[in-house]
Amino acid sequence: MQINQPSYSEADLETTLVSREEIRTRVAGLGVELSEHYLGKDVTIVSILSGALIFTADLIRSCDFPTRLDCLRAESYGNATAAQTPPRITNPLKTDIKDHHVLVVDDILDSGNTLKAIIAHLEKLSPASLKTCVLLDKPARHEKDFSADFCGFSIPDQFVVGYGLDFAERYRSLPCIGVLRKELQDAATHT
Ligand code: 5GP
Ligand code: MG
Repeated sequence: MQINQPSYSEADLETTLVSREEIRTRVAGLGVELSEHYLGKDVTIVSILSGALIFTADLIRSCDFPTRLDCLRAESYGNATAAQTPPRITNPLKTDIKDHHVLVVDDILDSGNTLKAIIAHLEKLSPASLKTCVLLDKPARHEKDFSADFCGFSIPDQFVVGYGLDFAERYRSLPCIGVLRKELQDAATHT
């Protein structure tokens, strides 16, 4: 296989930052934290597509409280490794969240622009409470005065894929989280 030919598998990773086992343990831990926080409450989970899909599927099964599940799509990345446009919310919620406890679940807090726009959007719908849970946080990249209420892992300022996170819609099904080999990022960005 040529060096620039991607296999869309773990073989394309330069480094693994978070292993499958570490993810499993931490998601279970987040489930415990959330279950303590939401004890006795019914919670509407708003998963941010597509990146948070796999995290959300595991997280809600670690939560010991009743949930409703809804999704929002926010787009800014296109097929690149840096935001192309300001975040746009491109589908409405199906559920009525007025007076409901809402937990927004996203894959990663990077600049903070996406979650901030989503929170501003949802606040207008008058939920009883509004919290955020992210799998990954890149503190070095925050542009906004914003942090998540619940967080899985803090990671360095590197573009990561796996466990729901993509590069041009690839790699979402990797069981771990890692950094793509540089030549694969460059090759895809320039085609
Ligand atoms: P923000 O608006 O906070 O800068 O970016 C948030 C969104 O950008 C995330 O929900 C995610 O979709 C995307 N993003 C940010 N950093 C990464 C990264 O390292 N890898 C991938 N695959 N997506 C990222
Ligand atoms: Mg996202």
